[in-house]
Amino acid sequence: MLVDRFGRVIDYLRISVTDHCNLNCIYCRPHSQIEHLSHAEILRYEEILEIIEAARELGIKKFRITGGEPLVRRGLLGFLKKLKEIDLDFSLTTNGILVSAMASDLSRAGLKKINISLDSLRADRFSRITRGGELSRVLEGIEKSQKFFSTVKINTVVMAGINDDEIDDFVAMAFNRGLQIRFIEFMDLCSGEDRFVSLKEVKKRLIAEWKLIPAAVQGSGPSDNYTNAGGKAVVGFITPRSEPFCCRCNRLRLTADGKLKACLASAQKLDIKAALRNGASREGLKALFQEAAQQKSQGHNFKFERIAMSSIGG
Ligand code: SAM
Repeated sequence: MLVDRFGRVIDYLRISVTDHCNLNCIYCRPHSQIEHLSHAEILRYEEILEIIEAARELGIKKFRITGGEPLVRRGLLGFLKKLKEIDLDFSLTTNGILVSAMASDLSRAGLKKINISLDSLRADRFSRITRGGELSRVLEGIEKSQKFFSTVKINTVVMAGINDDEIDDFVAMAFNRGLQIRFIEFMDLCSGEDRFVSLKEVKKRLIAEWKLIPAAVQGSGPSDNYTNAGGKAVVGFITPRSEPFCCRCNRLRLTADGKLKACLASAQKLDIKAALRNGASREGLKALFQEAAQQKSQGHNFKFERIAMSSIGG
């Protein structure tokens, strides 16, 4: 079992498979053109599988495939099939643009759980936030996902002056369509403009106005979940800044270029790709996981290095 210095059991790995994305969200990527990793720098699928096997032997049992935008990486379906063959519990986070076109293939490849990021329900605003994205494609993706996948979650980052006037529209959508929506607090990573809205306050208001009650199933993640009487929908709140949940943190991250990160907010990285390419054994890889777990601090200080979320794997 992987346990850190504070007794937290680490059983969750988020894996970024690419730093490329087919959207260019204003809060996720810096304004200036960012340089992409070269092909050689990106972990090959076989390498990711090696790392997954090492992680599994240490008791990591939940895996999330993310990016960049994971659905733009060539060969992803074949990779997911491999994950299915080894009976891995995995889910995928996507911006939803390609989901409608790929849903049936993704389902055949073994995907059951999908998180779709969506920050506005207004086409013009969605296009502005994503620098050119088409809202209708994401909405189609959500509809298809409800047919093909057992768990569909919508992730919405709430940003002051950008989309905080749409919170109730998102709640209404969740209840109308029987969806799970999770509101996420903005983290000031690279935009240079802190658009933070405290969801602690928003939660209080929504509980009163929408008569929300704690959901029976809370899930193992950081989301504080609510529903309404008899409803299928879930409204969750992920509050890293107003109500930090570090004491429950169970995760490590693997970046697209093969670095293990103990915390989103930490600058420390362990080069597991270099170890692998220098012939490290399974035990060697496991030792790096142990080291990463020991690097976890008690809580984040949210003094981020200026970095695009897309390069870490949000
Ligand atoms: N392309 C995929 C997507 O859009 O979901 C996966 C990668 S994206 C980096 C993962 C998540 O990180 C998205 O839900 C996105 O909204 C979130 N994210 C990016 N920048 C963020 C920030 N500054 N604060 C909070 N969440 C952020």
